[in-house]
Amino acid sequence: MMDRRLFLGAGVAGASALTFSSVFSQNTPNFGAPVLPAPGFRKMKLGAMEIIAINDGALRRPLGEEFVRNAPLEQVKAMLASQNLSTDYVDIPFTPYLIVSGNTKFLIDTGFADNGPPTTGRLTANMAAAGYKPEDIDHVVISHFHGDHINGLVKKDGTLMFPKAKVHVPTTEMAFWMDDAKMAAAPPAAQGGFQNARNVFGKIPADRLVRFEPGAELAPGIQSSAAFGHTPGMAVFTVRSEGQSFMYTADLRHGRRDGPPDASPHFRHAGEGQDGHGRFPLSVPRPRHAGSVRQRLPVQTHGLTGSPWSPAPAFAPGFFLPHR
Ligand SMILES: [Zn+2]
Repeated sequence: MMDRRLFLGAGVAGASALTFSSVFSQNTPNFGAPVLPAPGFRKMKLGAMEIIAINDGALRRPLGEEFVRNAPLEQVKAMLASQNLSTDYVDIPFTPYLIVSGNTKFLIDTGFADNGPPTTGRLTANMAAAGYKPEDIDHVVISHFHGDHINGLVKKDGTLMFPKAKVHVPTTEMAFWMDDAKMAAAPPAAQGGFQNARNVFGKIPADRLVRFEPGAELAPGIQSSAAFGHTPGMAVFTVRSEGQSFMYTADLRHGRRDGPPDASPHFRHAGEGQDGHGRFPLSVPRPRHAGSVRQRLPVQTHGLTGSPWSPAPAFAPGFFLPHR
C-alpha cells in the first residue's frame, strides 16, 4: 500500500500552467464538474490578524499514468479508493489567502480571474462573501509564476484585478521566467509558462511591482522564505501574530492534507532542486542552491499551514492544519 504522503508528494504533471484548459479540454472523458466549496471562504484568527482562505474554484482532472510519477497508477488508485475518492479523476482546488493585518490587506496568490477553466474565477465572488472587494487589496504577494498563482492579476480585457495593489514577486522567480536564454532552452511544453509570465507581468505597471529577496520580511509579521524547486524561485510565507503562526506553503505539497514539511517527499524533492511536478524534463537546468528547503525554512512546530490544495475537495474541519 502506497503511503498517502507519497501521493501528496507526487507529481501533478503540467498542473499549474496556463495550459490547463488546453490540456484538459481535448480528448478527455467528461467526468462532470468538480466539487466546489460552499461557502467559498474560511476565516481564522491569528493573534491580532485574520487569515481568510478564499477559493477561486477547482478543476476536475482525469487521473492518468502521468499524474503521479513516482508510483504506479494502480497504487495511486488504491490509495484514492481507500479515501473513498474517485479513481477516475482528481479535483484540484485553487485557494489564495487573504491576510488582514490592521487596516492592511495582503492577498497571497491570485487564482485565474477570467483566464482559467470555467470552474475557476470565483475569487472575487467568494471574496465579496467574506466581506472584501478587489479594491480593498493593498498588496498582492506572489509565491511563484505558475498560471494558477498569477493569472488572476490581470483580467482578460487587460485591466488590473486589484487596482490599488502593489504586486510583490520573488526576485529569483522573476529572474528565471524573464530570462530569454532559459526560455529558449526550455522544451516546447514549458514555453507557454514563460510566455504566460511575460504576458501577465508585462501588464503590471512598473511602479506597482515590488521585487523581494526570498527570506525578506515583507511587512511586520509576514516573512518570506526561499522554497526553490517546484519552480526555480518559489517563495513561501510565514505569518506571525501574538505568538501564533501560519505558513502558506504554496505548491510545496499537493494533497488533501498537509503534513509536517519534512514528511513530504515532494518537499524533499523541492529541497533537492527538483521540480515536484515532474513538470520540467531533466534537460532543463535545475536551480542551484545550497542546502535543503527544510534547512532554509523557519522551524515551526506549533503553527498552522495552508496551501492552494488545503480545502480539497471542499472546506473541511482541520482545513487550517497544525504542523504537528
Ligand atoms: Zn505551481
